[in-house]
Order: sequence, then C-alpha cells, then structure tokens
Amino acid sequence: MVEISNMGNQDQKDNKTICKNCLLVSQNIEIQSPKILYKITSIISELIKYNHLKQIEGLFSPADISPDKPWPDDIIMQKFKCIHCNQQYFLSVETYHGMGGQWKKI
Ligand SMILES: [Zn+2]
Repeated sequence: MVEISNMGNQDQKDNKTICKNCLLVSQNIEIQSPKILYKITSIISELIKYNHLKQIEGLFSPADISPDKPWPDDIIMQKFKCIHCNQQYFLSVETYHGMGGQWKKI
C-alpha cells in the first residue's frame, strides 16, 4: 500500500491522511445525471467486492442502482467506510428525478 502523503495529491482542505484506495472516491461529487450516478455506484460496488469499502448504512446496496435495474426506492441513502483508513462516505440520490444527490466524504 503506497501512502498518499508521498504522492502529493492530498486534498488541501482536509489534513486527514487518506489511503490509496480512497483516492478513487475521495472527491465530493454532485450527482447531476444518471450517468454520473451509475459510474459512482459501479466504482463503489467494485471497491466493496475487493474488500476496500464496507457499507455501514442503507437499505440497498450500490449494486441495486444500475441502468439495467428498476430504481429500488425514491430516495436512497447509503453510508460507507473505507476498510483501510476508516474514512466514511455518504451517498444520497433522489431517484424520483433520476438525478440529484451527492457523494461526499463525511
Ligand atoms: Zn481509505
């Protein structure tokens, strides 16, 4: 595992050291289109599959949010934790509009 502090890529507003795994997901993202949403949920699903992220809250899994599946609910909120550095993330989506929501570090 390469330490992020050696990579000069750390979020300047946040002094907390995050791990290499979190580099992929550490940016706060406003979800403005279903395309962005599906990209986020597919990345999260991969990270969960390879045991980097763990879902700690939420009724549905990111894998339930996919272009070939119906929306699981009108409003989806999920919380995740990085298994390596404990950084937590929050995903909210208003599926009623197919967009609107965010992915953020918490
Ligand atoms: Zn991490």
